[in-house]
Formats: sequence, C-alpha cells, structure tokens
Amino acid sequence: MNPFSLQGRTALVTGGNTGIGQAIAWAMGAAGARVICAARSDLTETLAGLADARGLSLDLADPMAAAGAFADEPVDILVNNAGIIRRADALDFAEEDWDAVVDLNLKAVFFTTQAFARAVVARQAAGAVVNIASLLSFQGGIRVPSYAAAKHGLAGLTKALANEWAGRGINVNAIAPGYIETNNTTALRDDARRSQEILARIPAGRWGRPEDIAQTAVFLAAPASAYLHGAVIPVDGGWLAR
Ligand code: NAP
Repeated sequence: MNPFSLQGRTALVTGGNTGIGQAIAWAMGAAGARVICAARSDLTETLAGLADARGLSLDLADPMAAAGAFADEPVDILVNNAGIIRRADALDFAEEDWDAVVDLNLKAVFFTTQAFARAVVARQAAGAVVNIASLLSFQGGIRVPSYAAAKHGLAGLTKALANEWAGRGINVNAIAPGYIETNNTTALRDDARRSQEILARIPAGRWGRPEDIAQTAVFLAAPASAYLHGAVIPVDGGWLAR
C-alpha cells in the first residue's frame, strides 16, 4: 500500500474555493480522496479540477455553522483552512476586527473539529485533522494582533486536541505556512517596501505558492504520518530558520 495515498478516504476542506484551500483540495483529490469543498463563495473552479467531489455551502462567521456538516456522509479528514486577517495599529484596533478574526480562525475551528471528531468517534473510525496555522503561531507580526492571537491559539488547540485524541485514532496536526501568494497577502505584496523586506528574509528567495503547502497537507492526512500528533510544521521557505 502507498503510505501517501488517500484512496478510499473523504476529506472536507474549509475555504476550498481559492488560495491554499483550493490547492489542498486539488492535491487531496490527486492523492485519491473524495473531496467535500466547504466554502461560502462559488466553488465552480475548484470542483472543475476534481473527479470525485461535492460542494458544501458553509459560512463559518457563525462558529457553529459546521455542526451538522458531518451527518450526511462519513468524513475521514478535516482541513481547517478558512481564515481571515484584519490589519490596523493595536492602538486603533476595533472590537469588530478582533471578534471576526478570533471567531473564524479559532472558535469556528474548535467547534468544526469537535463536530468532526464526534462523528468519527461515533462510527469507531480513524481520522485526521489538518489545521492551517501561520508563522504568526510563533511570531507576533505587525499590525495584526487578533490574527497573531488566534493563530497562537490554534497552535495550542492543535496540541490540546492531539493529547486527547491521539489514543482514539485521530491525528491532529497543523501547518504553519510562510508568506504565500494568495488574497490573504495582497496588501503586503502591494506594499513595495514590506514586500521587499519580507522577500529579503526568505532563504528560499521567493514567496510561497499555495501548492507548496498542499503536499504537506496530504502527508498529514495520509497513513505516512500515523505517528505524528500535535505538530505545527512550518512550510515557509526557511523563514523561521533565520
Ligand atoms: P485566501 O485566499 O484569502 O483564502 C481564505 C479562505 O477562507 C477563502 O476560501 C475564504 O472564502 C475563506 N473564508 C473567509 N471567511 C470565511 C467564512 N466566514 N466562512 C467560510 N470561509 C471563509 O487566503 P489563504 O492564504 O489561502 O488563507 C488560507 C489559510 O491560510 C488561512 O487560515 C490563513 O490564515 C492561512 N495562512 C495564509 C498565509 C499566506 O501567506 N497566504 C500564511 C499563513 C497562514 P471567501 O473566498 O468566500 O472569502
């Protein structure tokens, strides 16, 4: 058996319509998984690149929105990818920007994962959770306090859930992407000075692309990572090594 194959498994990817989530959906499909793309926006492009997939309309601004998402068919792999960022000086940061980011990037992840794990445990199956964390699970960043807090929280949550569920056959791990070319980083890339500062610090000498993250997600969902629990793996072109 190929330890990197996802044949016979079903994966649900949140925010599967674009960016990192779209690349993960396509890579998991290529590795043999049936993919449920959960998103609030149009999924036509993502679904067109998948042989065995369906879309699921899900707006995780309500952190409990996924409570019923695992009732229709058995899901083996959950990728918590949907996330937003809000930028402002800490002195001016608004409560609305705190709540929106923490609700989606942390609270929704917990309750989506809880619903997934309850369904896995109920059918006495195995499962894998892949959380999309950030370099800001380790660093503070600039002008993104709610994002840094939520992503630090997500790293802690990854470890906490791994401790509870490793013995029940559910692997919980996270990827901490570096600076990736997606909508999330448009503002940074449009700022010539910040963009150059960032690039100069990346040992790989380039920004990351969504597909740079996707194969690590496949690994974390596959039998190859069976003994990996509670890890937060940087995929960052070497940024954290500097
Ligand atoms: P992106 O292109 O902006 O994608 C974000 C995804 O989250 C989109 O699919 C978006 O859907 C979805 N989303 C936002 N609000 C949602 C909501 N209320 N309900 C459901 N889905 C929602 O950015 P990305 O870079 O691919 O981000 C994916 C993940 O990677 C995020 O967790 C982000 O924090 C993380 N990350 C990104 C980077 C980077 O450099 N790009 C670095 C570290 C971590 P819509 O299109 O409908 O808004």
